[in-house]
This record gives sequence, structure tokens and C-alpha cells, in this order.
Amino acid sequence: MTQTQSDTGILAGEQRMLIDGELRHTDGGALFDVVHPGNEQVVGQVSDGTLTDMDRAVGAARRAFDDTEWSRDLDFRYHCLMQLHAALERNKERLRRIVVTEVGCPVSVTGSQIEDPIDEVRHWAEHGRDFEYLVDTGIHKAPMGTARRTISYEPVGVVGAITPWNVPFYLNIAETIPALMAGNTVVLKPAQLTPWSGSELGRIVAEETDIPAGVFNVVTSNANGVGAALSADPRVDMITFTGSTATGRAILAAAAPTVKRTMMELGGKSAHIVLDDAKLEKCLPMAAMVACVMSGQACIMASRILLPRSRYAEGIEILKASMEATSVGDPWDPSVLQGPQISETQRQKVLGLIKSGVDSGARLVTGGGIPEALPVGYYTQPTLLADVDPDSQIAQEEIFGPVLTVTPYDTDDEAVAIANNSIYGLSGEVTGVDTERAFCIARRLRTGNVTVNGRSHFGITSPFGGTKQSGLGRRNGAEGFKEYLESKTIGHPA
Ligand code: ADP
Repeated sequence: MTQTQSDTGILAGEQRMLIDGELRHTDGGALFDVVHPGNEQVVGQVSDGTLTDMDRAVGAARRAFDDTEWSRDLDFRYHCLMQLHAALERNKERLRRIVVTEVGCPVSVTGSQIEDPIDEVRHWAEHGRDFEYLVDTGIHKAPMGTARRTISYEPVGVVGAITPWNVPFYLNIAETIPALMAGNTVVLKPAQLTPWSGSELGRIVAEETDIPAGVFNVVTSNANGVGAALSADPRVDMITFTGSTATGRAILAAAAPTVKRTMMELGGKSAHIVLDDAKLEKCLPMAAMVACVMSGQACIMASRILLPRSRYAEGIEILKASMEATSVGDPWDPSVLQGPQISETQRQKVLGLIKSGVDSGARLVTGGGIPEALPVGYYTQPTLLADVDPDSQIAQEEIFGPVLTVTPYDTDDEAVAIANNSIYGLSGEVTGVDTERAFCIARRLRTGNVTVNGRSHFGITSPFGGTKQSGLGRRNGAEGFKEYLESKTIGHPA
């Protein structure tokens, strides 16, 4: 483990919000602090937006949708988003430093936090340009004579986007860019812990693109009530949210009275079924790395490892060695793979869940505490818990820390049953030399996504989302674009 005294790249982001085309502070100028999780220092501030700011932003988005050509002018939208893509490329290194500053993710793994989302802006611009908005479905029998039916795909309207802190810039892009390209207007409410990934996007939109006033708004706030107001506002047609299942439920309840469309990407507790013919020395070090790279703060992570009893001891030894080999430390050190948790509150939650695991009879194989060499910063030891009861809290609750639980199984059927024993259904993983057997097991998992033999399910061209309490709807792929469109069927003379 390392803690370097290297020059950090700490960089404070934009303080102002973007409301109705104007970069502005809240009335009275209130700010709240942003902390670097790597050293616990306050590194800057951002506007502490109020209900009044949210009201203005929603009003602006409503007007921009109802009274401007944005929703109808596809060529202009393409022009604006390609401009945004170029602007983000220009700002790339600045954005990288801001993301490492506020998230504490290691600079070595920022590709998925910076390069990927910037590429996605171009992807959605091109996808939206090429999308077929009018689809002729041919002649249909109807009471008053035959009808030709044409499906017209149209934007939903005003989209409220509420984003979390784990991959904030990526999710700010993923939740808002397809919405904009589909012709919607947007109000983005970034997470309190990572406001700059949102406010910087607002600044770049305002200063470096032709996106008209009101089309894209960013309201930062330290109050959950401001996000709650967005989810309840009758002028908002759709809420897209990524975050915890508990907050997702609150947003769904707030959106219910006005029957908003919702797109929810919530918690996960994904299982990795390691089959008895798997090459453990290959797949388990990878599983350990994935658990640590974002300090375990990834909804998609396969946090429950299911090992065949016949290879249980062998598997645990490999996992233990891999977890212990993880370089934990200063996120600015390019050799580091695991940075801190985002906050002390999150770290305490992780440590509390580890303790509950041990209390419920799990065996602590390695980790379980704070690294001795890293007293400052919200660091957590990579942790391995074995003999985990599939019904225990640690096997059921999302931990969001660098923690793997291991449970043995005897038959493939039992492995599938344990994997599906969860309120969540986001993703999963199956590994085994017999690919056909692994694929068949993947099909039995009640989740939205599965990786077989390390071949990732995740990417901009493929639908991603959860079943059960992991969410509603899909991001990415053709499905991901259609989430931001309503279909209108028009019956007309043939
Ligand atoms: P965490 O609890 O780990 O911070 P959440 O899922 O609660 O994660 O937060 C994700 C996002 O949801 C943040 O932008 C946060 O401000 C927002 N949020 C929290 N509570 C509410 C709420 N009741 N209504 C709308 N948004 C909320």
C-alpha cells in the first residue's frame, strides 16, 4: 500500500449553476464545500442551489421545450452535440482532474470516467441523427375501413436527471445526452458529494456550445429536497435516476402523482458463479481487481463469489492473495488501483457491514479495517469474507466497498438459486471452460446483464439495466435511446 506525497492534481471546478442559459450563483450566494476523499481536505465550493433555483430551472426547461424549435430541429441538435463533443475533448484533462479531486478514483482508471463518456456524446449524436423517427407499419384492418399506421417517435418533454457520486461525469453524460439528442430539454441535479462533474458540464455547455438557453440546466444543491422537488414537479415529464434503491423508491413515489415516465438504475448485489471447470488462477484475480478498482463503489460489481465446494479452499487462497496484492493509496499515484471511499459516512457503512458479516458467522480472510499506512483519507482495506450465509445481511445488502463475499455450492442448480436469492437483479457473471454450459447458466440468472468468461456485457451499443429492485428501463443500445422518446401511433388513410 502506498501513500505518496506527490504533487496532486487537485483542481476545483465551476461554482456556478446553469439556469436558463446563465451561469449563476443562488440568490444570496450560498455555497457548500467539496472535499477530496484522498486527504479529507476541503478543496473548494459550489453553489448551494435552492427550491427557487430548481423552480427557475424547470420553468426554463419547460419553456425551451414548448416554445423553441429544439424538439423539432434534429440537424441543430446534431450540430450542438458534436460541438459539445469537441468542447469536452478540449476540456478532457481538466475534467479528469476534477473527477479525481471530488471522487477520489485513481487517476489510472479514469478512462471509463472520462474518455468513455466523451465518446458517448458523439455516439448519441450519430445515433440520434440516424434514428428512424417515422416508421410505416403498413395497412391494418380497422372498423371504418383499413388504416395505414405510422409510428411517430417524439421526445418525452422535460427530463429531470438525478445522478450519484460514484461515476458522476459518466452518469451525467449517460443520463442527459441521449435525452437531449432525442429532443428533450433537461434539468440535471448532480450528487452533493460530486457537484463539479455537473457544474463543469454546465459551464462547457454555456461557454462552448450553441445549446440554447433553457435546454440544458444544472442545479447543484446540498439539500436532498431540491432533487425531491425535481421528481415531484408537474412540469417535468420524465425522471432518469441512478443511485440507491432506497432513493429510487422515494423518487418513484414523488413521481407517481403526475405519472411521470421513470428510468431507474438502482442497486445491485451481483453474483459471480465460478463453475467447477473454471481456470481459477485467471478469473479470480480479475474478480478481486474489479472489486477494488472503484473502491467497490460500482453497482455493477459482482460482489458475491460462488465457488464450487470441490475447489473452495483453492479459490479462497487465490482471492486472498489477489486482494492483498491490490495497491491502495493516493489516487494521484498512477500505480495505485484502489483509492479511498467517497466519504467517512460511506466508509463507516462499509466497515459496519463487514462487522455484521463477521457477527453473522462469516470468516474474515483478509482486510476488514482501515489500512495502517493510510490514516488520512477514507481508505478501506480490500476485504474477503468466506463461508458467507446467502441469507445473511452481508450477502443481501449492497456494500459499495472493496469487499467480496464467498459462498460454497454443490450443484449448478444450487449456484443459480443462490445467485437469484436477491432483491436485486442488475448483473452477474459465470465462468467456466465449457462456454455452452456457462451460457446456459447465464440465461437462468434473473438479472439485466451477465458477463460470461470475462466477456463484458457492458458498452454503449448494448442495453444495460436491472430487473427486480435494480431498476426500470435500460440505458445504452437502441433501447436506451427509445427510453427518451414516446411512440405515437397515427392511423391515416392508406
Ligand atoms: P447516496 O445515499 O449514496 O448518496 P443516493 O442514491 O441517495 O446515494 O443519491 C443519489 C442522488 O439522489 C443524489 O444526487 C442525491 O442528491 C439524490 N437524492 C437523494 N435523496 C433524494 C430524494 N428524496 N429525491 C430526489 N433525489 C434525491
